Amino acid sequence: MYDYHTHSSFSGDSDEALETMVLRAISLGIKEYAVTDHYDPNYRNAAYDFGLDSEAYTRELERIGEKYSGKIKLVKGLELGIQHDVTEACRAMTGAYPFDFIIGSFHCAEGFEICAPEYVTGRRAEDVYRGFYAYVLQCLKLYKDYDVLGHLNVIDRYAARIPENEAYYDLVEDIVRLLAADGKGIEINTSCFRYNMGERTTPTADMLRLYVLAGGEIVTVGSDAHRASDVGFMLDRARGMARDAGLKYLATFENRAVKFVKL
Ligand SMILES: [Zn+2]
Ligand SMILES: [Zn+2]
Repeated sequence: MYDYHTHSSFSGDSDEALETMVLRAISLGIKEYAVTDHYDPNYRNAAYDFGLDSEAYTRELERIGEKYSGKIKLVKGLELGIQHDVTEACRAMTGAYPFDFIIGSFHCAEGFEICAPEYVTGRRAEDVYRGFYAYVLQCLKLYKDYDVLGHLNVIDRYAARIPENEAYYDLVEDIVRLLAADGKGIEINTSCFRYNMGERTTPTADMLRLYVLAGGEIVTVGSDAHRASDVGFMLDRARGMARDAGLKYLATFENRAVKFVKL
């Protein structure tokens, strides 16, 4: 098993010690475990701090990676919160340490935290979705220092209503084509099963197929665990989704370079 999206108490929204998370991963027999704590500069809700003490973080990654090196491969990663006005800060963070793997994610868009009621309600759902995906597309045209786009359709978690595909899939297609052309990956994020999203997996089967059709072949799977009990959560199902989309390999990373393992 490969869990390529996890957090620890270095993230503003987790209280679990990194070592506790890794011990859980070892007990589950996980082969490669990516720690991807948040760095989300200029996060648009002052109640949260998603800054990252990169020195303390990377020191602990080194210590734990070494301590358990015979038992698990620790992949040293980050989940970057991308916004149009923080690209310099993001580049500085990825350059501050030789990370193995960077997830680029959108938790804020168009100047709002995307889970904020004032962002997702009070407008037509079609307009919310077009605004969100157009923003993601625009940012990804400018910012390339990441390896995999995190939870592509995260907006589904917070939207008052999910519009028909026809209302916004042209933008999703443009995004997955850009990812494929840039040699960037996409992740299957199993937190959707904890949010009880039903068929609306992250990404949906349709979105994953569009990425593969566009020539994309870099797909990671991750639990997005913020506590030890969620480590490895439903990763078998994520692998099944990757197979159903026609993929034969899963992506893993070392020193920001992709390596494929058989699905
Ligand atoms: Zn995220
Ligand atoms: Zn995350």
